Amino acid sequence: MVLLRFAPSPTGALHLGGLRTALLNHLVARKLGGKWLLRIEDTDNTRLVAGSVDNIRHALDWAGLHYDFGPGVGGPHGPYFQSERLGLYHSYAKKLLEARHAYRCFCTPSELSEIKDRFHKMGSTATYDRRCLHLTEEEVALRVKAGKKSVIRIHDASVPERSIPPDLIFGVLKNAQLSLPTDPILLKSDQFPTYHLASVVDDHEMGITHVLRGEEWLPSLPLHLSLYACLSMTPPQFGHLPLLLNPDGSKMSKRMGDVQVAEYISKGWEPEAILNWLALVGWGNRSGQASGKEQHGKSIPDVFTLEELERKFDLSALTSRRGILERTVLTHLNKEHIKRKVHEPDGLHSLVKKAMPILSSAFIGNQFVQENYVGLVVIALGTRLVNILDIATVAPYFFVDPDWFSDTAMKMKAAIPHMIYKRSVEQSIEDFSRINSSEWTHAPLATQLQNTRTTLNCSSKEIMSPLRHSLTGMKDGPSIINTIELLGKERTLERLQRCAT
Ligand code: GLU
Repeated sequence: MVLLRFAPSPTGALHLGGLRTALLNHLVARKLGGKWLLRIEDTDNTRLVAGSVDNIRHALDWAGLHYDFGPGVGGPHGPYFQSERLGLYHSYAKKLLEARHAYRCFCTPSELSEIKDRFHKMGSTATYDRRCLHLTEEEVALRVKAGKKSVIRIHDASVPERSIPPDLIFGVLKNAQLSLPTDPILLKSDQFPTYHLASVVDDHEMGITHVLRGEEWLPSLPLHLSLYACLSMTPPQFGHLPLLLNPDGSKMSKRMGDVQVAEYISKGWEPEAILNWLALVGWGNRSGQASGKEQHGKSIPDVFTLEELERKFDLSALTSRRGILERTVLTHLNKEHIKRKVHEPDGLHSLVKKAMPILSSAFIGNQFVQENYVGLVVIALGTRLVNILDIATVAPYFFVDPDWFSDTAMKMKAAIPHMIYKRSVEQSIEDFSRINSSEWTHAPLATQLQNTRTTLNCSSKEIMSPLRHSLTGMKDGPSIINTIELLGKERTLERLQRCAT
C-alpha cells in the first residue's frame, strides 16, 4: 500500500512551508490511492519547543488535512513520537556497529572543532579525521567502561552518483547537489538518534513508500541511501520540494511571524485559499496557476478546493524551481473561495462563525449582530469580501448609522447636485413609506424604486448615488435594493429622513 508521512520536528509553530509539505504528502497519497501519517520527530532535545505539537495538529486540522494515522488517531505504525521509539534506533545502531558500518567516536566537542578548523585551513571540506575508527575493540570497551561519552558514526556514507535514483521532483541528481560531513553521526551521546538514523529506521519500519520532504534534505540523500544499503533494506522513492521564497527572493523559512500558519488562521484567511495558494506554487508553467489561463496578460490562479486538488493534482507537473508565494495570489484566491462558500450552507455557516466575534467587538451590544442577519449580510457582500474579517469595515452601515461626515461621504455628497439629492431622497421617503414592513422584500422594493425613477424622470445613476450616500455613506456595496431590503423599513426611512433635512 502507498504510504507517505509528514514528519515535522516540534521546534516551533508550523510554517507555511511545513503546511505545503503536509498538503503535498496528502495529495500524493490520495492521488495514488494510499494513506499518510503524522510522525513527530522530537529527537533533538536542544530544539524542542513546548506547545509545537498542539500547534502543528491544530493547523493541520484547521486546513482540513486529516492524517490517516498518527497522534490522536492511532494506527498500526505507532508510536508516532520518535522519542518513544529509542529502543528501535539503538537496535539498528547496534546492527550497524556489529557489521562495522558504524563506529564509536569519543572525541570531545573541542577536539572536533580543532580537527574541523585544521581541515578548513587546508582548504578541505572534510569535517573529521576518523581517528576513532582505528580504535581497537579493547580500547573502545575500556573507554565505555570508564564512562566516556561517545557518539556512533557511520563509516563512509558516500554513494556513487550513478547509483542514486532520480528524484521524483528534481530528476537526475548531480554530486554538486549532494554533500555530506565526514562520517555523519547517527546516535548522539545523549542516546538520541540524529534525524538521519531515526528517519531511515522509521520510514522502513513504518512501511513508507514515498518520502516527500523539503529541499534542505536533498544533500543528505546519499547518507540515507547508504544506510538503507548497509542495513539491506529497500529505500522508498524520494521527492524533494523546492524551497519557498519571499517576493524579494530571500528564503521564506528565514522569516518569522507572518510565515506561521497560526498568523493566517488568526487573520481570517480561508483554509481552502491557503491550501490552494500553497498547491499552486511551482505547479504548472507559471507561478500561481496551473492551467495557464490569462486575463489582460496576467495569469489567473486556478481556484480549487482540497477535493478538487486531490483530483487534479499531478506530481509530475511540479517543478524543482523555487517558488514565490505572491500575496496578490492569496487575496484573489481568498475572495474566490468566499464567493463559493456563500452559496454552500456549511461554507456560509463557517463565514458567519468567523464574522461574529469581529462584529461583536466592533459594534458592542448591537442588536443586529446575530447569526441569521449576519448570514444575510455575508450573502449580500459575497463577491466583495477579500477577507471575512473585513466585514465590519467594508459594511458597517448594516449595523450602525453611516458616518455621513467621513471624507468619502462628504466627497460623495459634494459630487451630487443638491436638487437631485434632495428630490431623490424626498421622493424615496414618500414611495417607500407606502410599502408595509411585511412586504419589505426585493420585488416590491424594486418596483417601487422604478416608480420613484419614473416620477422623478431621472436616470438610475441619478437616484442611486443619493440613496447610497444616505443609506450607507460609502461608495461601494451590494445593490441598493439588496441594501434597502436588509436595512428594513424603519432604518431605511429613518436614514433617508435624516439626510433629507
Ligand atoms: N523532521 C524533519 C523536518 O522537520 C522532517 C524531514 C522529513 O520529512 O524527512 O524538517
